[in-house]
Amino acid sequence: MKRRISILGATGSVGTSTLDLVERHPDRFEVIALTAATNAAALADCARRTGAKLAVITDERKFDELRDLLAGSGCRAATGHDAMLEAAAGDAEWVMAAIVGCAGLEPVMAAVEAGRTIALANKEALVTAGWLMTDAAKRAGATILPVDSEHNAIFQCLAGNSHDGVAKLILTASGGPFRTWTKADMDVARPEQALAHPNWSMGAKISIDSATMMNKGLELIEAHHLFGLSSARIDILVHPQSVIHSMVEYVDGSVIAQLGSPDMRIPIAHALAWPERITTRAETLDLIKIATLSFEPPDEQRFPSLRLARAALESGKGEAIVLNAANELAVAAFLDRRIAFGDIARIVERAIEETDAPAPSSIAEVIDIDQSVRHKVGESLSSLVA
Ligand code: NAD
Ligand code: MG
Repeated sequence: MKRRISILGATGSVGTSTLDLVERHPDRFEVIALTAATNAAALADCARRTGAKLAVITDERKFDELRDLLAGSGCRAATGHDAMLEAAAGDAEWVMAAIVGCAGLEPVMAAVEAGRTIALANKEALVTAGWLMTDAAKRAGATILPVDSEHNAIFQCLAGNSHDGVAKLILTASGGPFRTWTKADMDVARPEQALAHPNWSMGAKISIDSATMMNKGLELIEAHHLFGLSSARIDILVHPQSVIHSMVEYVDGSVIAQLGSPDMRIPIAHALAWPERITTRAETLDLIKIATLSFEPPDEQRFPSLRLARAALESGKGEAIVLNAANELAVAAFLDRRIAFGDIARIVERAIEETDAPAPSSIAEVIDIDQSVRHKVGESLSSLVA
């Protein structure tokens, strides 16, 4: 039996890597639904290549183009909220959640509530919904498989071991393109410098998050919700080579690590075939060529996002939603050259100071907090000239 899969965010970096694996193993996977935000041509092309049954485009203005491109293909074109939920919770048993940002929250929750297996790349959905998502998964019998390379590594390091014996989780971080830069240079860094990640090729938003190290802050919160450990038991370790993707330290002193080339097709393949294994086109690890693995402590002075994210997690309230929403807007404004690199963390910090967000008791409350922060931060950003 082929595994029936849907890919939310099929045209992005993770979506494209997922399709690369699916097309390499046509005997194993059947594509049910694909989604994208605006690129109708790329979406139609993926749908035709994979024989998908449903293609959903978020931007309604692109619907006619998508429908025309898919005419005669046997793939239905659709747009709108309900179509997106259908892609997430329809006929597929396995769903790749690869939309970027809190925009992916509702489709991920639909897949969770339908009891599907969710390969979760969309960390912002878990950061904002937190235990609402993990509780819903328990109730519905859904499985959340982490795709983020660090969390996928931890998932692999925990397999077959008693979770009671875990002392701590060690999340590794490359340190991003500005690992060795001074704070003064970072403050005025340009988007193309921030986008030039030394090890990974990724979408624009996560690349900027890697440069501010907000990505590691979001991953700290993600790890807490996925593995149930307190903030005090999750360490961050800078490891510039990105060879060790993360580690688990056990109470007996053993440390188990997962290693591999920095290629997202490896964690995606793990989640795609789980609990089996499939081949990938990723380069195998050549440790003789790499020769040195080095480690440094993270620097919270130059990378204040790490401190902000840890504080948001420890607040136990809805601060992570505020942090995430303000960060999404600030990153977009930086990419539009409306603010300086150093302003990103300042905008996030101010939003947290000015917003009292209680712990949400429903997804509707998460979305309310997210929207009100976007409104407030958006207003202050709109006064800036592009
Ligand atoms: P990307 O920008 O390359 O792709 C995003 C996808 O989501 C695209 O298909 C886009 O059309 C769609 N999308 C964007 N905004 C949308 C919206 N408002 N509504 C519906 N669809 C929308 O992003 P990416 O780098 O592939 O990252 C996707 C997610 O995976 C992010 O949450 C990121 O943090 C996470 N992630 C990515 C990588 C990586 O290597 N790229 C690694 C780990 C985790
Ligand atoms: Mg990661």
